[in-house]
Amino acid sequence: MLLPGIGLREGTVNGGVDAFRMRICKETVSFFETAADTDHRRQKRKDQPKVIRLPHLKYLAGYPPALREKVKKLIADEQLGPYLTARYPNTHEVQTDRALYAYCADLKRDHLRSAEQIDKVTYDSKLDVVRHALGLHTSISRVQGGKLKAKKEIRIASLFKSAAPEFLKMIVVHELAHLKESDHNKAFYRLCEFMQPGYHQIEFDLRLYLTHRELTKNQT
Ligand SMILES: [Zn+2]
Repeated sequence: MLLPGIGLREGTVNGGVDAFRMRICKETVSFFETAADTDHRRQKRKDQPKVIRLPHLKYLAGYPPALREKVKKLIADEQLGPYLTARYPNTHEVQTDRALYAYCADLKRDHLRSAEQIDKVTYDSKLDVVRHALGLHTSISRVQGGKLKAKKEIRIASLFKSAAPEFLKMIVVHELAHLKESDHNKAFYRLCEFMQPGYHQIEFDLRLYLTHRELTKNQT
């Protein structure tokens, strides 16, 4: 199910999405801030029946303003949670590092056989908090038997343990694609779409999920 008007248009995706896309793996995916002038606005709108604090939607910083406005409306109408629940109702069983490694290995075997071998895959509970990233791929050079050997490691933010299977797959696909393409270029996204059809829409929805997660966290 897709709520009307919130799906990514094909034109949006194909029309130079790289230019405004944030880098999930390397660049900060920082938490949104509430408007600095919220108090001022609240004062101004005192007489109005309902004051809604809208986030700046930092997770969606790279997307077109019209789309961001639609998301803000969803939030204001309290429809973001129901949208996500309806569209991503499932959970997954990939709960341990061992299961995560097997999950990555399966995906790689099916789609990226020729890429370099992955040495280690782990969930990292500090990833989104300390490093402000959701996934990381690293290549650590170690001397082994007189030779320099690069160890490939993938780290996935622990929040994906409880996220929908589509979101876990998206972040793993993203990091796996970096085994072939280090930049977020067209070839990189072609690879992502190949491994997970609908990748762009799922990445967008993941950003909605992260936005919703932050909003509900602030409520408690
Ligand atoms: Zn990346």
